[in-house]
Amino acid sequence: MISKEIKDKIRAIVGDEHVLDSDLDLFSYSYDSSFVPLLPPNKPYLVVRPLTTREVSAVMKLAYENDINVTPRGAATGRTGGSIPLHGGISLVLDRMKNIIELDERNMMVTTEPGVRTIDLYNYCAEKGLFYPPDPGSWKYSTIGGNVAENAGGMRAVKYGVTGNYVMGLEVVLPDGRVLHTGGKAIKNVTGYNLTDLFTGSEGTLGIVTKIILRLIPMPKVRNTMQLMFKTLDEACNTIHRMLQSRVVPSSAELMDKMSLQAVARHNRMDISPSIEACLVIEIDGDDKEELNKQAQQISEIAAQFNVIEVRIAASTEEAEEIWAIRRGLSSAIGAMAPNRLGEDVSVPRDAFPEVVRRIGKIADKYQLTIAVYGHAGDGNVHPSILCDLSNPEEEKRVHLAVNEIFDAAIDLGGTLSGEHGIGITKRDHIVHALGEVGVSALKAVKQAFDPKGLLNPGKIWP
Ligand SMILES: Cc1cc2nc3c(=O)[nH]c(=O)nc-3n(C[C@H](O)[C@H](O)[C@H](O)COP(=O)(O)OP(=O)(O)OC[C@H]3O[C@@H](n4cnc5c(N)ncnc54)[C@H](O)[C@@H]3O)c2cc1C
Repeated sequence: MISKEIKDKIRAIVGDEHVLDSDLDLFSYSYDSSFVPLLPPNKPYLVVRPLTTREVSAVMKLAYENDINVTPRGAATGRTGGSIPLHGGISLVLDRMKNIIELDERNMMVTTEPGVRTIDLYNYCAEKGLFYPPDPGSWKYSTIGGNVAENAGGMRAVKYGVTGNYVMGLEVVLPDGRVLHTGGKAIKNVTGYNLTDLFTGSEGTLGIVTKIILRLIPMPKVRNTMQLMFKTLDEACNTIHRMLQSRVVPSSAELMDKMSLQAVARHNRMDISPSIEACLVIEIDGDDKEELNKQAQQISEIAAQFNVIEVRIAASTEEAEEIWAIRRGLSSAIGAMAPNRLGEDVSVPRDAFPEVVRRIGKIADKYQLTIAVYGHAGDGNVHPSILCDLSNPEEEKRVHLAVNEIFDAAIDLGGTLSGEHGIGITKRDHIVHALGEVGVSALKAVKQAFDPKGLLNPGKIWP
């Protein structure tokens, strides 16, 4: 619990209307977009919405002095329970910090507060012809601070990388309220340890990100989308490998398996032949139409070597949107197929993609579960979605066993527990398997150095 005296001090820092403590409000900040069950202990004692770094710092100092847990929160689109306040305390919501501070066109960098929505940042830069590539599927809602905390990826990662590839510098409020600045606009910077990289992907367990400097690149002048249908998964994956080896690097290469396609067909009332086992949605970009046509031609020729049965090249922006709508609507289409859907996120070396999908199929058979598989095939990041009814305890048990085996399969193939969603609560029991005892003790030593009292986002990353 938080005493009235401390609540009053917090109200004095951020303003009365930005401190919430009604039952309804506390409930609203007790869950995110993960599959962590709604449990009463997950409720925060207080929700605090600061506006400035100074306010964040003052709240953190007060919390530190009074041993109060703090859980940072952006838009709560996280898939692993990172923003769920597991041990009460303060839910520190950064959604009011939504200024884009500066667009530095000469250095091609943007400085922003953490509560800006990803898509708003993209559009702001795009208006000046500058490109911020990371595009998580949630970008209409997610905050840039949440993206940095999770090192979020997206569809364009295959060509342009993930959030961390663009973070140049950070302002971070440490658990005791001190303000740390890392990195900056200098492109080459090897002064001391790379703290910018350390905080990126730290899941809100080391500090509160209050300012972010991001590198931008010139906006590609033209883009187009292709949809390719295959009779086998191997043929689809081999097309991607050959493409990348031939230096035709698409900006996105998304794969959907048969189950995913049938979910879309049912949801959108479309006709997709059940003989199709895999579909690739590919985006290409470049400087002019001629270059784009050449890339499309090369991809079509490569796909033909692997018996592609249908190639669709969007003839208009509307058609490209139509193709992307299928991929972007996949999550809802799959979700509509069963009472519950457990979405996972494992990552393997690119050439192990077909094998991990095959193993997931075997796991589905073994545990008599329906698992739809889709993902960012161009970078080996697979999203298996287990369709199930968790109100049935016997089925729930099978789901958990299946999830464990999916993690084992990914690690066995040289991959890892998470490509982009982080560890949070949902994967913390598997972290030792993924990193080993020495790896986890190194992480804990870092945590101890920044957060000796263990007050920031407790219960995340390891059990
Ligand atoms: C439909 C859907 C599609 C998605 N697609 C993708 C995808 O393609 N790629 C991908 O990578 N992810 C994806 N995600 C997951 C999610 O959107 C990302 O992890 C995103 O980065 C979370 O941002 P957020 O603002 O919602 O953060 P939250 O969920 O609020 O928080 C996430 C974590 O960051 C911490 N945090 C938030 N803000 C700060 C801050 N300012 N300082 C310190 N810590 C902070 C929180 O404590 C928590 O641990 C998807 C989610 C959904 C629901």
